[in-house]
Amino acid sequence: MIVNKNKCFYCGACVAVCPMGAIELIETWIEINEDCNDCGICAKICPVGALGVK
Ligand code: SF4
Ligand code: SF4
Repeated sequence: MIVNKNKCFYCGACVAVCPMGAIELIETWIEINEDCNDCGICAKICPVGALGVK
């Protein structure tokens, strides 16, 4: 998964739904770590479509 910095407004919704706990909200930045298995759940719930498969 990759985050489109221009779209993400750091609402934190993706952090809450990730089953792997792979997304972290760090100040004003979203980071996806190596635990991500590309399940796609976060991409579905992001209200602005900021998450996508690389
Ligand atoms: S759900 Fe989308 S807009 Fe919200 S923090 Fe995650 S990537 Fe950013
Ligand atoms: S694709 Fe799945 S595992 Fe990866 S960050 Fe999104 S919700 Fe988490």
